[in-house]
Amino acid sequence: MPAGELPLGVSGGVFAGVEGLVPDALADHLCSVQLIDHHVHGTFNERVDRAGFEAAINEGSTDPVPGFMTQFDSPLGLSIRRWCAPLLGLEPLAAADEYWARRSELSPEELARTMLPAAGVARWIVDTGFKGDLITTPDELTKLSDVPSSEILRLERLTEDLLEDGTSPDGFPDAFRAALRTAVDNPEVLGTKTIAAYRIGFDVNWTRPADAEVVAHARELSARPGPLRVDDEVLIAFGVHEAAAHGLPIQVHVGFGDRDMDLHRSDPMLLLPLLRAMSPVPVLLLHCYPFQRQAGYLAQAFDHVNFDVGLAINYLGVRSTGLVAEALETAPFAKQLYSSDAFGPPELHVLGSVLWRRAMGLVLGDWVRAGDCSDDDAIRIVDMIGVRNSERVYALPAHPGLPGRP
Ligand SMILES: [Zn+2]
Repeated sequence: MPAGELPLGVSGGVFAGVEGLVPDALADHLCSVQLIDHHVHGTFNERVDRAGFEAAINEGSTDPVPGFMTQFDSPLGLSIRRWCAPLLGLEPLAAADEYWARRSELSPEELARTMLPAAGVARWIVDTGFKGDLITTPDELTKLSDVPSSEILRLERLTEDLLEDGTSPDGFPDAFRAALRTAVDNPEVLGTKTIAAYRIGFDVNWTRPADAEVVAHARELSARPGPLRVDDEVLIAFGVHEAAAHGLPIQVHVGFGDRDMDLHRSDPMLLLPLLRAMSPVPVLLLHCYPFQRQAGYLAQAFDHVNFDVGLAINYLGVRSTGLVAEALETAPFAKQLYSSDAFGPPELHVLGSVLWRRAMGLVLGDWVRAGDCSDDDAIRIVDMIGVRNSERVYALPAHPGLPGRP
């Protein structure tokens, strides 16, 4: 057992059941490397009931889980029973009811303190834009896990906050630019994010708008009755181009999300006009499933495009090995990043890491055994995707713990 092995409580660790398929040096490295989770949210800070928990392990539906089924009967449910049950002192694959009974004995804080260290993460890069009051803040996540957190600024949220707080439409473009300058100066903020996929889809006009046009659209949005919600392509394109002009990396929600989103309009190929026209700051295509091949192509075609397959790794469970293999098809290894995109149950923070490590071991282990790459190559690929590419994209200080750093 390597000294830095994740505290999973499973005999054989991450590679239980597939011993022999992953070469020892690669397996040892994958069991100990401390990852950067470049797209993640907080953990629940309040108790959830079973219905709330099951809803939190279903990304697509917004309805309660129907009575004829349980969300534990899914690839993600199986993975929770296999990998998280031992963290709670149960046997792997403990029954769903038994898992739920044991989980219910622990407070949200105890659950987070048990699960988060098992993720083996050295830094969380936290998206604070959604349902911020139900989940832990970056500071709280740091307290619960003893590792640092950084933040991502959501562009649509910034627009909504400014207009809700009384910024006049005439003053909006300059107020937005001033807020971005403040963000650039804040060392906690590493980049920005757009949820254009949820609000307008990608098949829109991505031309950089003139300020007069932005003012007109801000005025129209502010005059609408009801809560302010940015679903205006001029305002969203303005935010993205301004963030790029300020030099901030931009995360873009792509693919997999709940059914409010038109999934077919979030194919990253539809972003080609934007990618060709924008200032070439790092673009991070998030999750991408089921468009991981398109994302890999774009990462090859544009120097500033990077991508991850977070979120889907958790939801595919045992089949995440196939997803990780497809993500390794076209993109240069320097263009892919690790993320869990965990939100809510801390099971998701640990599973993202465990399933990624296991899938990387199985896929790259095949390559090593077939003579297609060396042990050292496989370990370097793990370090690029798990750590170094995030360091480069977000200009983070170099990770001290990796051997053979340039
Ligand atoms: Zn996400």
